[in-house]
Parts: sequence; structure tokens; C-alpha cells
Amino acid sequence: MAKRTLSGTSLDTLVSLAKRRGFVFQSSEIYGGLSSIWDYGPVGVELKRNVKDAWWKSMVRERDDIVGMDASILMHPDVWVASGHLDGFSDPLVECNECHRRYREDQVEGDVCPTCGGDFGPARQFNLLLKTFLGPVEDDTATVYLRPETAQAMFVNFENVQTTSRKKIPFGIAQIGKSFRNEITPGNFTFRTREFEQMEMEYFCEPGTDDEWHEYWMNFSMDWFKSHGIRGEKLMLRKHDADELPHYSKASADVEYEFPWGWGELETISNRTDYDLKAHTEKSGRDLSYFDDQQKKRFVPFVVEPAMGADRSALAFLADAYDEEGEGKEMRVVLRFHPDIAPFQVAVLPLSKKDTLSPTARRVYDVLRQQFNTQYDDTQSIGRRYRRQDEIGTPLCVTVDFDTLDDDSVTIRNRDTMEQVRVPIENLESAIRDLMNEMRADCQG
Ligand code: ATP
Repeated sequence: MAKRTLSGTSLDTLVSLAKRRGFVFQSSEIYGGLSSIWDYGPVGVELKRNVKDAWWKSMVRERDDIVGMDASILMHPDVWVASGHLDGFSDPLVECNECHRRYREDQVEGDVCPTCGGDFGPARQFNLLLKTFLGPVEDDTATVYLRPETAQAMFVNFENVQTTSRKKIPFGIAQIGKSFRNEITPGNFTFRTREFEQMEMEYFCEPGTDDEWHEYWMNFSMDWFKSHGIRGEKLMLRKHDADELPHYSKASADVEYEFPWGWGELETISNRTDYDLKAHTEKSGRDLSYFDDQQKKRFVPFVVEPAMGADRSALAFLADAYDEEGEGKEMRVVLRFHPDIAPFQVAVLPLSKKDTLSPTARRVYDVLRQQFNTQYDDTQSIGRRYRRQDEIGTPLCVTVDFDTLDDDSVTIRNRDTMEQVRVPIENLESAIRDLMNEMRADCQG
């Protein structure tokens, strides 16, 4: 059973576990760190990769109506003129008259500085685009921007992708990649950073069918998180009020997760209408309409967009998996990840480091690593090794002991129940598969 005994934990606990076990480190730590920029370590990189792979599998590999792409981070500056980002991608910034700290006005409670209690000066709009220069001359003509979202590349490539993939509307284009925003007040660990990764999909449909598709993708998104193990009671779909809708959106809803500090957005599902394709048609002079050869009519498609953060989602998976069992010295920290999200699926642990066990243990490891993301660990006592695997959420540990040399069998230990079963090595792969399927079923949020 993957049921948590804890309903949640503090952010400090998660940050310290993340550092201790190699999930996330502060960027450039030996130089004092770079504020609100994070690096994923050997365990965290596997977690985030699994989140992205699970998304890609559900969005692209398992569907006929969505194709993928991978665009460059740097794009023609006119893209950001047409999309409205150069003029309008800003947040209201206020500065304290006393300590000169800066805040996003809509994120401070009350109207005085939360640090020193000083008054704020007047709010001004602060553009979040990060700039750089292309080529050897640093002037206005060489200015380019690090993309603040991956979406625009899918709009400007709409025609290329549609004609080469021969997809008919409705169809979607999905992309995973880095985005950059010069956030005024980043924070809450990897929740709000200035460099992050997004997983976005633009679903092009016929005008008039857009409301239905918006409903469909809202439900899909909620189901996606739950089917990958996030508890339903920690998720909510929050529809935007009319006054919070971005300029391009007819309707938007956020999937929110209850983090240790409160509810926070993981994903926004927006009905972007025909705003972007029309804006790029106007700015570039290239007709981005679509000819429906069955209905013999031409139209500019509407777009429904599920836009998810890979880092925020990975943090939600981490927070949601965290559990503690027992008390005091007996306390066990365990991350109850869904097997497809867990950084490693299996750990092979020879009971002792003695040469007598190593060849068999390595043989088992070499077979399993072809099928599952598998770790090999022969350091320290077996108890400590189980504890380490529990703390990184490895669903199954395979122990090779001295009996293995006689009976060619190994012990599989279940992370959640701590139950152990003895299995012949020749049946090990299928036994692991069965146990993981049981754990998958248990993990439905
Ligand atoms: P917020 O309101 O929290 O600033 P947003 O509504 O501007 O976010 P979107 O433009 O909808 O965010 O981006 C889609 C997704 O990208 C978000 O739901 C989030 O998961 C992720 N994302 C956006 N900004 C950041 C950031 N600064 N750091 C990490 N992830 C981010």
C-alpha cells in the first residue's frame, strides 16, 4: 500500500532531504550560490527525467493526434513583439523606501515591506524577459531574448509541422524545454526560479470546438497527476476569474497542488483562441490559416494549451511522496513514489561486500539494468542501504545473500510494506514487473 501516514511535511525537511540524497543542490554552491537557481544531482535528474518521460509518453507516444518538436531557446526578436511579451510580459514591482528590497506587488500581503515594515514607493511594470546579444556587437540590433515560454516556437512552426507530419485538425504539437523569466520574487525552492523547464502542448482545433477541447484537457491534466500517484485531495482545478485572464486567453484554469506553504500552480490549461496564429500572421506576413479539405473551408485554428512546469511538478511529486513511519531512532523516512516516477525502480544489494557474492550480484544487476533503472549498492550495512533506498523512493530492493549461491534465488523487499519474498533469479524480472504493477495500482491518487 502506498498510503501515506503523513499528510505533508515542511519545505525545510524536503530541501534538506533533497541535498542529503542528491536530488537538488544550489547552483554554484562553492561560490556562495546563485540565488534561486538550482542544479539537479544524480537522483534528482532521474526524478525530473521520469516526470518529463511520463508526460511525453502520455502526450506524444501514446497518441495519434500529437507530435513533438524541440525548438531553440533563442528566437527572432519579432516573435516576442507579435506574442505581446515585449510590451506586456511584466509584473508590478514595488520597492521599499527604507531597505530598498523589491517585491512583486501582487505577492505581498498588506501595503508595507514584509522585511522592515517600511512604506513602498509607487508600483512600476517590470519586464520579465531576459536579454542577451547574438554576435560580437552588443547593441540594440543584436539583442535577442531567452524564451519565457516554449509555446511560441510551436505557433511559428505550425505550418512546418502540419505539412510535414500530415496531421489533420484537431492535432497538437508538444515540446519540453527550458524557459527563462527574470522573476521579481523567486522562491520556495524550485517552485519559482528564473531558469526552469516547461512541458507545453498546443492543441489546434476548429473554432467552435474549442470549449469542448478545453474541458477535455482540464480533465486530462487532473487525471494525469492522479494516475502518476499524486493524491487527489492535494490537487485542485481552479478556474480563473475574468479579471485574471492573460490577454490571449478566453478561459484558463490552473491545476494546483497543496505544497507545504499552501496551494501553488503546477499547470495552466488555457483556451488561447486564434490569438497567436493571427498575431504571427500579421507580423510575419505568412498566412498561418488551415485548409480543411473535407469541409472545403479555410480557417485560423483555435488553440487549447496545457502548460506544465517540469520543476514544479517534480517538486510536487517529491512533496507528495514524502512519508515518515515510526518514531525516534526507529523512524523511517520513505518516499512513496509511483514506480514510473521513482528515480530508480530497483536496487541490487549484495548482503556483504565479500568477493563470493559480487559476481552473482553483478550478474543480477547486469540483467535488471537492461529493463529497469537500477542501482547497485554494496557499501555499509544492509539496514543503512535499505534506509537510503527508502529515502530516494526505490520501490524494490533485490538482496543477494549467501543462500543465493546454493538456491540461485534472491529476496525482493517492497518499499511500502517492507515485505520480503524469495524468488528464483530466473523468475526475477517477471516478479519485479508484477510487484511494480501492484504498486502502480496502489498509487492511483
Ligand atoms: P505564476 O502565476 O506562478 O507566475 P504563470 O501563470 O506565469 O505562473 P505560466 O505562464 O502559465 O505560469 O507557465 C506554465 C507553467 O510553467 C506554470 O504552471 C509553472 O508550472 C511553470 N512556471 C512558470 N513560471 C515558472 C517559474 N518562474 N519557475 C518555475 N516554473 C515556472
